[in-house]
Amino acid sequence: MSEDIHVAFIGNPNCGKTTLFNAYTGAHLKVANWPGVTVEKKEGALKYHNNHYKLVDLPGIYSLTSYTMEEKLSRQYILEDEVDIIVDVVDASSLERNLYLALQLIELGKPLIIALNMMDVVEERGMDIDLHRLPEMLGVPVIPVSARKKRGLEILLHAVAHHNRRHGMDKIEHQHKNEREKKSSHQHRHHRNIVVVYDDWLEDKIDIVETALKEKYGPINNLRWYALKVLAHDEEIMNKYPLDIATVAEKSYEKEIIKQKYDFIEEVIEEVLVHKDKESKNTDKIDTILTHRYWGIPIFLLIMAFIFFLTFTIGDFFQDWIVLGIDKVSDIIKNFLTYINVSPVLTSLLVDGAITGVGSILSFLPNIFILFLALAVLEDSGYMSRVAYVMDGIMGKVGLSGRAFIPLLLGFGCSVPAIMASRALENPRDRLKTILITPFMSCSARLPIYILIAGMFFGDNAMYAAFSMYVLGIVVAIALALIFSRIDKNKNKNTNTLLIELPEYKSPNAASIFIYAWEKVKSYLSKAGTTIFVASLLIWFILHFNMSGMVSDIGQSFGGFIGRVIAPILAPAGLDVWQIAVALLSGVAAKEVVVSSMSILYGVSDISSQMGMTNVVSKLSQIGFSQLNAYALMVFCLLYTPCVATLVTIRKETGRARWALFSVFFQLFVAWVAATIVYQVGSIFFR
Ligand code: GDP
Ligand code: MG
Repeated sequence: MSEDIHVAFIGNPNCGKTTLFNAYTGAHLKVANWPGVTVEKKEGALKYHNNHYKLVDLPGIYSLTSYTMEEKLSRQYILEDEVDIIVDVVDASSLERNLYLALQLIELGKPLIIALNMMDVVEERGMDIDLHRLPEMLGVPVIPVSARKKRGLEILLHAVAHHNRRHGMDKIEHQHKNEREKKSSHQHRHHRNIVVVYDDWLEDKIDIVETALKEKYGPINNLRWYALKVLAHDEEIMNKYPLDIATVAEKSYEKEIIKQKYDFIEEVIEEVLVHKDKESKNTDKIDTILTHRYWGIPIFLLIMAFIFFLTFTIGDFFQDWIVLGIDKVSDIIKNFLTYINVSPVLTSLLVDGAITGVGSILSFLPNIFILFLALAVLEDSGYMSRVAYVMDGIMGKVGLSGRAFIPLLLGFGCSVPAIMASRALENPRDRLKTILITPFMSCSARLPIYILIAGMFFGDNAMYAAFSMYVLGIVVAIALALIFSRIDKNKNKNTNTLLIELPEYKSPNAASIFIYAWEKVKSYLSKAGTTIFVASLLIWFILHFNMSGMVSDIGQSFGGFIGRVIAPILAPAGLDVWQIAVALLSGVAAKEVVVSSMSILYGVSDISSQMGMTNVVSKLSQIGFSQLNAYALMVFCLLYTPCVATLVTIRKETGRARWALFSVFFQLFVAWVAATIVYQVGSIFFR
């Protein structure tokens, strides 16, 4: 008999959910190492032994409360009837921490299987988990697996098929070691279907609330769970099932419930975990250095500088080859088109527009790939979570929580996912602040601009000029955060205390790193093929046409006209060049387009090659464009209006078009002010 089984994967952040999910579906999802990234619901499908499985990867959470966005999402999802069976992925190497969520899921009473993941780590450390006693104590099947080593995957699927839609649980074997239970005359100690038996007084309250719920709302599926939530004064549940409970739960019993769950966890650990003390000491050792109070931040900056160095040196090496290749292709196509007598307009459109525009972006592929490869290694090893921890202090001083550092850090890659990651912030005001400052972090799309401009004007010092942009981005973001929290009068202090669990260090996994970097390259490529392609054609059009048709002098085109209108506004920043004004304008489509526009504007197809650069530099030098102007231009590019994709994301995440509009003008203003300061102050010293 064939069946459709809807399986929801849930678990703590970093328990290996996504890896497990990938192992089944082969879907190339991002494998990240910090909480808050898997915010979106990811789905996959799989057919195995006549059964169709629909898998859903839920955001990582520590608890079934509704304090954070992830918790709300995940909880809502599994409460729905649609889900046939829940697979709770548990990191066996941190059983104690992971069991807390597991207990809450068990209390929920839905069909549940525990996938005991990371068994390879457990073995490696010489630990042992009593796989007979554990399910006996928890009342649900426990299947040992290793997502990374792809072990136990089929057994887990069998278990899923077998326990599908099977409510209720196996008989629980309590040992009644606990003194308070021995003395108790309460009936609950005989219950064989309750996993966590709370103190008598609490169980009595649960009974009362359960009865009240039943009376008022009829049969409810997960009665005990709801009763516990009512006793913990869970807002959502209390709104859903209002009860007059003043006499039983005049205050919230959340603390007591949590504490007694942990007491039970302690019992479980004591019984099932053998060689407990053999846990890895390596993580602790590494952490005394990497998360050191004073060294932590300098070490982080050094690591980033090193990544940058790799991006530049190795990247440039490969870049030369790509440029050479694109040149060849461009020549061949041009000759071919001329040979078959294609009209000059079409030839120009294809060669000067499409190939020049897209080609200039493609040549930065190696740099982008190396940058993301390095970032992926940091993530996968577990270091990135530390960075948030290390930065917590500084972030607190500027009115943000350490959690805000994660979106900011992601901003080095791309503002779009970075802004989405801000969902990890529970306080809406903190979240808005984070969203508004994230685009100031230098995203990878801006890298080509620095490489190009710094390469043209700063020679051997290009790398330092470019690195300074990254630092400046951080400084501006932090300064603005500070200003925002000064303005924000309703600031609630410390609502976002950092609750990031530091995962164990792991040697990075080659496959997941490559999948991750490849994902990024793919999205960069697809951007080159779509947004940048279209933008290049548009730019080509406005640069080669005016009202009277095609023009040979770009200066007479629409673009020339628009550029001349805007350029004077940029004069105080030393950017009174109409070509640059046009390039900047086009960069709102995507920041890389600044580069492709420059190459179209200056008519050089190989702008990132030595010759192309010399060509453009000589043209710019003629009009007195110096290193200082170039630096002001880089500053402007770093800070000005975010790209369209980012603006759309800001709108979506804040729910208001107002904030996207604010970003447009606010960043423009900040960029103008900063570039002007750089240029004016610089002029005093360097003229
Ligand atoms: P998620 O946050 O729950 O989605 O966790 P991920 O799937 O992103 O995994 C977090 C980290 O644990 C990654 O570095 C994985 O490579 C690693 N990991 C996942 N499963 C296993 C496993 O079974 N064994 C080992 N050694 N590492 C694993
Ligand atoms: Mg994940």
